[in-house]
Amino acid sequence: MIKYNTEAEKKAFYNSTAWRKLRQEAVKRDNYECQECKRQGLVHVDSVKEDGKKKPIELNVHHKQEIEHHPKLALVLSNLETLCLFHHNVIHDKGYQPKKENKWVHDERW
Ligand SMILES: [Zn+2]
Ligand SMILES: [Zn+2]
Repeated sequence: MIKYNTEAEKKAFYNSTAWRKLRQEAVKRDNYECQECKRQGLVHVDSVKEDGKKKPIELNVHHKQEIEHHPKLALVLSNLETLCLFHHNVIHDKGYQPKKENKWVHDERW
């Protein structure tokens, strides 16, 4: 079975054609919108204004189940979610685990 434990293995995966194709599909399926912004009812736009110029928002495609622990789900569309850079960082910083108890729930940073 393929494993994605090291940085080199992950890098090779994220550079693969198979991933790039699937990533495009995920972003398209999610309407080029951050799914977390959508869930929170935030205004989601596909670009931000910077110096009067429109700059596209950077979208990330996140693995809901990390490939390191679930290599079989690395190329499964339903395991992917489009997120803006901000929410992607939030989810990773908080060790977000939707099905398990979230140990950061009582963290008052937010
Ligand atoms: Zn977002
Ligand atoms: Zn992620």
